[in-house]
Amino acid sequence: MPWAFGFIHGGDLPIIRRMKWFAAAILLASFPAFASDTPLPLPNSGFEDGLAGWTLAPGTSAEASPEAASIGKAGLLVNSGPGFQITSAPLPVQAGETYMVQFWSTGGGENGGQAAVRMIFKDAKGADLKPAMAKIRKWPAGSTTSSPYWENSILAAAAPENAASLTIQIAPASSRKPGLVRIDDISVARIGDIPAMQRDPDGAAPVPPSDPARIEFLEKEIAANPYRNKPAPRIVIKLDDFGPRNGTVHPKWIKVAGYAKEKNIPVNFGIVAKGLEENAPAFFQWTKEHHDSGDIEFWNHGYDHAEGPNAQGKKVQEFNGTGFDHQKTHMADANRLAREKLGFPFTAFGAPFNATDEDTVKVLEETPDIRVWMYGNHNHPAGKTVLDRCYAVTIESPTFIPNYADFLEGYAHNRGAEYFVMQGHPTHWNDDRWDQFTRIVEFLIGQKAVFVKASDLGKP
Ligand SMILES: [Zn+2]
Repeated sequence: MPWAFGFIHGGDLPIIRRMKWFAAAILLASFPAFASDTPLPLPNSGFEDGLAGWTLAPGTSAEASPEAASIGKAGLLVNSGPGFQITSAPLPVQAGETYMVQFWSTGGGENGGQAAVRMIFKDAKGADLKPAMAKIRKWPAGSTTSSPYWENSILAAAAPENAASLTIQIAPASSRKPGLVRIDDISVARIGDIPAMQRDPDGAAPVPPSDPARIEFLEKEIAANPYRNKPAPRIVIKLDDFGPRNGTVHPKWIKVAGYAKEKNIPVNFGIVAKGLEENAPAFFQWTKEHHDSGDIEFWNHGYDHAEGPNAQGKKVQEFNGTGFDHQKTHMADANRLAREKLGFPFTAFGAPFNATDEDTVKVLEETPDIRVWMYGNHNHPAGKTVLDRCYAVTIESPTFIPNYADFLEGYAHNRGAEYFVMQGHPTHWNDDRWDQFTRIVEFLIGQKAVFVKASDLGKP
């Protein structure tokens, strides 16, 4: 099944090939995503009124619980064992129109499970109809995420001929782990006239304008309950693809370093170590100084950051699909170059494209320099501290485009999380993007978030 979200949120595997899908999802994450969309009033869509408006199949136990709140005071908490089923109130639909459902969910940690979420169309007599293809590349069924973070998922389908109503059904997901599932903040919209091309992740869609009313709502929601009775979050600003340019440091990196210094926050620059083979004394000097002052953590972002077809024509990345020996050499070379050229070891690692496989685990097990693995394999941590990824709380969405509105949406839904590792690529930021980046940082400073180096989160 082409379940973009189930795949991304599969939990363990960093999937670069689906990143464009992910970017598209985030593009659509702010609600309403496009001005031409029409929100439909789903009764009790955020479970603030208990289970009013929702129908439980016999034997289903579910509750509207503060423990499952993402926005507001409650969310749906359900054990996704066999046989449960929860259905929303019906919404009237028009045949031929495309409807989009967004929901937020989390597995919420160790006992977390997953459930299926489906769009069900019925005719006037109440008979089920097969959904028709949506005009965006989304499907009428998906699953909740297994992530410990709250993530946004999107379903879409066109109402088929004779359709009269749409309901949202939550039910067991075959082949997915049963356990506690938390769902909140469901929304439904009829999709307007933005051509499918413009919504296509490969179609160079513009970022939809952010909705000032939504931003105001979220800022108030956060102010009313900033951390859900937990400590303020820790923040790792993970900036990728640092290296020498013409022997020195690119002005956009210098700008970030200066800004971070001015705000008195540490930042984390990922070095592609091949660059350290260049004759770049000014770059080495600058990097050593910022390491020694403690302003910046420089971390291992691979040796060559390569991606391409292997001998069999399959697209592979430096630490995914390239084999143990290749990965071992690249890991060792990067770590050696840091020690030789910079005079300090890398202690944190984040793979190019965040793409890794089982060989990466074996390589890391044999790599004592590295203590922290950003966006690593949670189930196979290789003896490292793995820092998880929250897709909804990051700097750029889509990749390369800092986006305050999308950040705020994700942050509001994820209050109470212990930390966020937020990724960015400063050399891609023009002035508008820079402004979005600083707006994000300054919001977090206002929240009293604690900015840290990646290695600060490592086991001692
Ligand atoms: Zn990179």
